[in-house]
Amino acid sequence: MSDLEDPSHAETAQAAARFGLCENCLGRCFARVDYGYGNDERGRILAQRWDLETIPPADCHVCEGLLGRIEPMTTIVEDALEAIEFDTFLVGTRIEASTLTRQQAVYEAIGAEETEPLGTEINREIGKRLEQRHGWNVDLDAPDVAAILDTTFDHVDLDIAPLFLYGRYRKHARDIPQTRWPCRRCQGTGCTDCQGSGRTYLLSVEELIAAPAIPHAEAEDATFHGAGREDVDALMLGTGRPFVLELTNPRRRRFDPTQLEEKINATAKPAVDIEGLRFVDKEAVPLVKNHRGSKTYEATVQLATPTPTETLKKACRILEGAEVAQRTPSRVSHRRADKVRHRNVIRCRLREERPDERHARILIQGDAGLYVKELISGDNERTEPSLAGLIGEPATCTALDVVRVEEPETLDEHAPRTE
Ligand SMILES: [Zn+2]
Ligand SMILES: [Zn+2]
Repeated sequence: MSDLEDPSHAETAQAAARFGLCENCLGRCFARVDYGYGNDERGRILAQRWDLETIPPADCHVCEGLLGRIEPMTTIVEDALEAIEFDTFLVGTRIEASTLTRQQAVYEAIGAEETEPLGTEINREIGKRLEQRHGWNVDLDAPDVAAILDTTFDHVDLDIAPLFLYGRYRKHARDIPQTRWPCRRCQGTGCTDCQGSGRTYLLSVEELIAAPAIPHAEAEDATFHGAGREDVDALMLGTGRPFVLELTNPRRRRFDPTQLEEKINATAKPAVDIEGLRFVDKEAVPLVKNHRGSKTYEATVQLATPTPTETLKKACRILEGAEVAQRTPSRVSHRRADKVRHRNVIRCRLREERPDERHARILIQGDAGLYVKELISGDNERTEPSLAGLIGEPATCTALDVVRVEEPETLDEHAPRTE
């Protein structure tokens, strides 16, 4: 015997039936009584036990036919979902306010306490049918897509979860910023300074990667999250810099990332190329953005006077392992607070081959945030120690390339959910 047949429910069920309800709407007044029944079954059990009359949904006082339309509504949601790729889904419903008002009035009038909202029933019934038909999985917490059905207009809005791709980029040309750089004078509208382009720099790493990715995933837009950024005029070499590309509203999410990688490289090269592109979940974004890993640079140094290799080697040996005190560099002090930071130089090695005694190339590995140009020049004694300070002659960094950016170690825990 079902709990629904308990005499304590008799009076409430009779009061509900007097409104003229379909089986579902009657059963829904007792939705949380007992387990394992659909609301229509609940309605039938109650009607039989207490000799009540239920009526077809089309004439139902509360739903006015909605619950007789589960099948056609399922087909509408099904059509919308079949046009996109996903693994998990969720159905939501928009219902006319007057319907909800009638439902609420009935619940209050009969004093039923174990009810559920009409939308919850419709969502569940449609979801159940789609799971059975296609093997799709409902995920209430973090679905790939939420299909929101407007029951008045039979229209479906798809709210698609963003897609996250992790990779590393290299930049082989100078004067390419990592992200879009609007013209300072016109703020992007186009002026004579920027020849109408609206940009200070025509290309950006972000756009070179995002432009092929957006159509590939049939996405609406893309956001680029880099693990720090190099200067506009610095090359990014070696193993590349980690990034996560976030694609919003992607209608495709099951492609092979290596195919997209090839596509990106086909258009971004020779200026930029990427490698190791793979799916990650959204936790990878803060992980990559906040990663404070060490960086390795190759600095091209110009010396004011001819300087012997031995002198430079000695200076490098002192800098290797040194803790450097750096006041905010004068080149950025107009936009950053003036303070002293302490950063470590992990490695500092002179490249043996030198074109002449006034030039050198130095490999420097330092903590995240180490100002390398100032480590070379000393920045008018704002950085201590420095290469210039140690050799006792002015030295400038004329080119600075990033050759390695340490990757976040825990990234592998954020593997994609798809197989
Ligand atoms: Zn009804
Ligand atoms: Zn402009």
